[in-house]
Amino acid sequence: MSELWKTPASRALRADGLRIADIDTSARPGFRGGKKDGEALLTERGKVLAGLQEKLYANGRSGDNRSVLLVLQGMDTAGKGGIVRHVIGSVDPQGVDHAAFGVPTEEEKRHHFLWRIRKALPRGGQLGVFDRSHYEDVLVARVHELVPEAVWQQRYTEINDFEQELTEAGTELVKVAMFVSLDEQKRRLRERLERPEKYWKFSPGDIDERAYWPAYQQAYQDVLDRTSTDYAPWYVLPADAKWFSRLAVTELLIEAFQKLDLSWPPANFDPAAELRRLDTA
Ligand code: ATP
Repeated sequence: MSELWKTPASRALRADGLRIADIDTSARPGFRGGKKDGEALLTERGKVLAGLQEKLYANGRSGDNRSVLLVLQGMDTAGKGGIVRHVIGSVDPQGVDHAAFGVPTEEEKRHHFLWRIRKALPRGGQLGVFDRSHYEDVLVARVHELVPEAVWQQRYTEINDFEQELTEAGTELVKVAMFVSLDEQKRRLRERLERPEKYWKFSPGDIDERAYWPAYQQAYQDVLDRTSTDYAPWYVLPADAKWFSRLAVTELLIEAFQKLDLSWPPANFDPAAELRRLDTA
């Protein structure tokens, strides 16, 4: 870990006991450097992450069924897409299983809410990325009353059981909730409306959703209070500064990969004998 981190990201960002209303979305918990330091470090740490992911991928090719799954949650404009492009973009795409979850299709609606999630889980050796996730089923589903309260109330336990099962089966979960201030969100939405190359990121519903922020805040609070567990803790990411978000998620992923304590898979051939054969080939 670089000395620019006073505290490892996994400790500085851990959600335990945190009140969402108290989040300073411009803060950089645990980090003592500025933007320039952060950007330089991101380049360096992106390479470390790529190396670790290659090792996991190599092990997966040799039958290791472990995986890492990054779950990204956040309100519109929080920067989930930027994490996918800039953090996940720094690793080998062959080793990435990416899934984005939008409004469920008619078929998905006929199934249990975890049905589509299970189908998208990373294969052994892969880094999975969920851009939105099963948590939408206790966030948007609750805020917009898409299901009765008794149904979403039950889901926290179902989610905890599901995530326990996942971690026991060898998936290291990294759950990140990204928060921008309402002012920063307005600035980012304005940018999407003023720059033609950003129109594609805008949907008119994003403006309507702003009115629901207090309800989302309550729903996010319950997510943190009820689904941050020892086996799958939540990390809360102040996301006004994009460089910090990207650096912090890179660090969280590096820590998750390091927990797997990976080494290169051994050769299933005799390298010395193969070198001799190559010399005469
Ligand atoms: P994003 O807003 O994530 O950057 P996007 O604007 O392209 O991406 P889509 O992928 O079309 O959006 O879908 C995201 C929308 O789907 C969000 O409004 C989200 O609340 C909604 N959504 C996701 N999961 C569910 C769910 N289980 N039930 C209802 N709505 C959901």
